[in-house]
Amino acid sequence: MGRQNTVGTQSGRTWRLVTPVLGLSALALAGCVQTGSADLQVETVSRPTGSVALTPSHGGVQGGNLVLVDTGVSPDGPVTAAFGDAAAVECAFDEASARHACLAPEHDVPGTVDVALSVDGTRIAETASYTYTTNGTQDMPILTVETQNVRKHAEEIRAGFPEDVQLGAVLKNGEPVDVFGKVINDAAQPEYFFVPKLDDAIALREAGIESKIAILYVSQIEDIPLMLHYDIEVAATDPAWVAAAEEIVAGTGGTLRVHLWVDTGMGREGVTPDQALPLARAVEEAKHLELTGIATHFSSVTEHDAAAIQVGDTTNTTVAQKTRFDGAVAQIRDAGLGQDALIHAGASDVLLNELDPLYYDLMRIGGMFFGGSAENRVYSWTMKLQQVKTLPAGWCIDYGCTEPTQAPKKVGVITHVPGRETQVVFSVGGQEVPVLLNHRNVITLDLSNVPDAVVGDEVVIDFNPDSFYMLDASLPLPVTTSGG
Ligand SMILES: *Cc1c(COP(=O)(O)O)cnc(C)c1O
Repeated sequence: MGRQNTVGTQSGRTWRLVTPVLGLSALALAGCVQTGSADLQVETVSRPTGSVALTPSHGGVQGGNLVLVDTGVSPDGPVTAAFGDAAAVECAFDEASARHACLAPEHDVPGTVDVALSVDGTRIAETASYTYTTNGTQDMPILTVETQNVRKHAEEIRAGFPEDVQLGAVLKNGEPVDVFGKVINDAAQPEYFFVPKLDDAIALREAGIESKIAILYVSQIEDIPLMLHYDIEVAATDPAWVAAAEEIVAGTGGTLRVHLWVDTGMGREGVTPDQALPLARAVEEAKHLELTGIATHFSSVTEHDAAAIQVGDTTNTTVAQKTRFDGAVAQIRDAGLGQDALIHAGASDVLLNELDPLYYDLMRIGGMFFGGSAENRVYSWTMKLQQVKTLPAGWCIDYGCTEPTQAPKKVGVITHVPGRETQVVFSVGGQEVPVLLNHRNVITLDLSNVPDAVVGDEVVIDFNPDSFYMLDASLPLPVTTSGG
């Protein structure tokens, strides 16, 4: 529809002839687009919907990437593009693509904006849309976050949250941390945010979040000045870390608030219970550190734990962890330390199972904001079948040819689904389709059960909506080079 062909250059300019098509909609360009001289005139055209196009139609929020604009007309005057509320950018004609080349401006948060195009100062009625994403690789299918469902979950969590317990929102689903943070902050006003790393904490502060923010896991000593700058609390898991931190904070005259982590049977962050008192003492003796919290994390919470806690069943893992934690806290407090420290341990599983003996002063809730029923799903992730073919019987699949086809088999090929997102299932036409081969950059799907599937059909990538799946939508690894 409405293809235009490059018909020539004159005075160094290239223009395109608009081929009129039937069914054109309302006026897009009023009057003629004139050159300085009268030798080139562009018809007054109106364009059918969809004829204005951006390539690519999505890009990172940082902007700066090339976007080629097809205005649908043969513009001779300057073309400008206004992405959302941003100031319009000027686009230069690109002969190679026969489109106008613009640089996308940056945008504060991911989401779709209208792009208003003007030719020689005259607005084209039809707008294009451009989707800003987090700064990940643009080759992968775009994952859409239904923020209204995150909001709904947050409202429900707050409404059912025990009143005398503080709410700590755990954000470890990767990007966009700032968007998640703002939505949850608006809907549930958590007293605390807990994040895995400093970048996430900074993203929350820069998004204007004023609640307390703590980093869950061990932080780099060298980052302490940034933590002070952004008012971020940290995890203390080792006396040597405490000593090194004190030296740095002392030089600033400030105070760093730390949470002492006790590993009560998870094998991860924190000191073993017998080391908790010495670590607490190290923190309290460090003049510029404040013991703000004492924390642990449960490994094996189940619906049977309430009964086990009640009868003190020491064979139950949660009971064992609780006993170790309570013992460590008592030792610290009996030594006159950590009197004001917040005690926190429970996560989503504790709240869901209503294990109130494990509520303590604060609960750290992560998965409940993101999981949920199929109707309330937070993530939608789709792409299109890029190739469809039928493989003959006896055809090799994958290196080594260990499982050749038994009979002709219909397959579909898709590309660039990040391999680290495990626990995903692929569906075509509402039918779950098995993966025959997954080389991350190329995936072959078995389409035996969807015989009508064709190229371009939507492939839905799903997480199990019943599990609190912690998607890791964080950025690709930072890479640099050395050696010049
Ligand atoms: C992930 C995590 C949480 C939150 O757990 P959910 O099950 O997602 O609610 C709390 N505390 C720590 C230390 C965690 O790693």
